[in-house]
Amino acid sequence: MSDKPRNLFNARYMDGDKIRPMDVSILIEDGLKIVETDELGKEINLLAQWSYEDIRSHDAPSHILIISNIRNENYERLEIQNPEAIKQLKENAPKMGRVEKAEAAKSHKIAALSIGALVSAAIIVIIAIPWVADIAAPLVPPNIERKLGDSVKDQIAQAFGHKTLEAGTCHSQEGDEALALMVNKITSHVDFPYELDVRVVKHKMPNAFALPGGQVIILNSMLDLSTHPDEVFGVLAHELGHVKHKDGLRLIIQAAGRSFFISMLLGDFTGSTVVVFAIQSLLHLSYSREVEHQADLFAIEQLKHHRIATKPMGDLLERMTAHMEETMKKKFDDHGDSTTDVDKPHNDKTHEHDKNQPAKASLLDSHPLTENRKKLLSRAETNTNTVPSLTQAEWIALKNICNDK
Ligand SMILES: [Zn+2]
Repeated sequence: MSDKPRNLFNARYMDGDKIRPMDVSILIEDGLKIVETDELGKEINLLAQWSYEDIRSHDAPSHILIISNIRNENYERLEIQNPEAIKQLKENAPKMGRVEKAEAAKSHKIAALSIGALVSAAIIVIIAIPWVADIAAPLVPPNIERKLGDSVKDQIAQAFGHKTLEAGTCHSQEGDEALALMVNKITSHVDFPYELDVRVVKHKMPNAFALPGGQVIILNSMLDLSTHPDEVFGVLAHELGHVKHKDGLRLIIQAAGRSFFISMLLGDFTGSTVVVFAIQSLLHLSYSREVEHQADLFAIEQLKHHRIATKPMGDLLERMTAHMEETMKKKFDDHGDSTTDVDKPHNDKTHEHDKNQPAKASLLDSHPLTENRKKLLSRAETNTNTVPSLTQAEWIALKNICNDK
């Protein structure tokens, strides 16, 4: 007889010792028999026999039944998917849905194990992923880093209310030349593995930040807030410090690593989820103090090399921080509209509103000016005969770069 008996069903069995579940058969008769069978369904080995009184069920997706035996101390489990088998078991095992004391104790044990798993996950996310990012970032070839930066730049631009980064970029002949002068000063004696792409983008938030692959974005309100070219030069040098140290790349690797790990934990892994998560978290992440400090040191080195004053950078950062706090406070007082600027349509009316949004982009650089940073920048001021980084005419051209359109 090749047909299986009507009360014989396939199931998966974890005996509590082995890690992998075994494919088994179950026989639903006087009690529940868990058996190994041959291809024809003939019983070859009885693994366990459970009394229906002792069977309890566990949380599982609706089409799956997971049961255990309260008499067993180990984590023995049986997983059944066959609807007929589930139906017959529900009819036969009267206490299946109940959780009794012994079972509750086991649940606690499992909860304790889960807490252990959570702690391990936290360690991986907090310690291991940044560590891996530190090791991996220098190994990423410059062209790949550039591509990564290119792949996020338009999304970043959209967060600032522009269709593309280029669409939001200001140009004027003299302004572009003045900006190029500043950039060339730094690249004249620091090597970057790619051509730098520094631009001024229109937005009401005074800030500047660096994307992976040598792209630096200065928001035009930062120019409006500046009173001297050396202030801008200092902040630009700081951003180029982030570029030199591959900080943006490291941030992306960390964000991707985290989302990869989390989707793995949730068993919901697709490549696109990871990318989307990475970009989204990029908009909310900011650098650690140590990373900021290193970028400051790089900036100070550049400023001193060109005999440019270091204190103005601190003055601008102070104004930017004050402006940011004021905007945040104002926003809070004005009944805190929490709509994000990221997914807004891009017509001109919403632009105005978008541009008023403050640090939604706590983005790649929030530049909080701490006392330590301020001290560092004013103490570094040892040159008495400093030279301005731009002439007055160049400075005016740069400041007005967005006013030509
Ligand atoms: Zn920074």
